[in-house]
Amino acid sequence: MPIPNLISLTRSITKIAHVASREIAIIEDEAVIRDNYSDYLQRQGYRVAGYASRQAALGAFETRLPDLVILDIGLSDDIDGGFELCRELRARSATLPIIFLTARDSDFDTVAGLRLGADDYLTKEISLPHLAARIAALFRRQEAMTQAQPKPALFTCGALLLDTDQLIVQWMEKPITLTVTEFWMVHALARRPGHVRSRNHLMEEARIYVDEASVSSHIKRIRRKFQEIDPDFDHIESVYGAGYRWRH
Ligand code: CA
Repeated sequence: MPIPNLISLTRSITKIAHVASREIAIIEDEAVIRDNYSDYLQRQGYRVAGYASRQAALGAFETRLPDLVILDIGLSDDIDGGFELCRELRARSATLPIIFLTARDSDFDTVAGLRLGADDYLTKEISLPHLAARIAALFRRQEAMTQAQPKPALFTCGALLLDTDQLIVQWMEKPITLTVTEFWMVHALARRPGHVRSRNHLMEEARIYVDEASVSSHIKRIRRKFQEIDPDFDHIESVYGAGYRWRH
């Protein structure tokens, strides 16, 4: 067998081992539900750690974060414990995939969850295979981002600088911390300044599959992050009924 094949075989094996060793943390106060998700995801090849409370999860995450987090909102007496935990995790990592999985499905909760930087928001009616598909999609997206990209990885548009290799964003030479979803939305808009991008297009670019209203909350959050360092920032324009565009 020629050597290059051996190399690619080794790479494939490494990749499989990497996927199999991914750790998912589930924070859910109801043991029956937690075990149900854990069992299913373990059968999918993930390592799963379950926690009943915010405190238990934070204690375990002190030394190392998992590869993906699934969060309930209400954790026993800790009514908005999931929201609080999301905020704390996002402060520690801008790229950790976070999924809310909850019985609450009001628009208010969805928007609140996404504003706190969650990547996805699902209700407990979702089937287990569907949940596994969303998890796999988030991991695929992360993988695509860490894979070698054609050079140059640096992209500029006016005062905006994007490094698609390292997912670094700068505005007026100051760094902005975006989630992976937000990063690819900005990338999609700024790559074709002046062109309107529909919400569907932005979802495709960011490789997320959520309802259109969630795209609006992501956009609001992105604008706010830019405005924190530049109060006059107004380069993301809403185009009524069509989507958004990046203004020069
Ligand atoms: Ca609960």
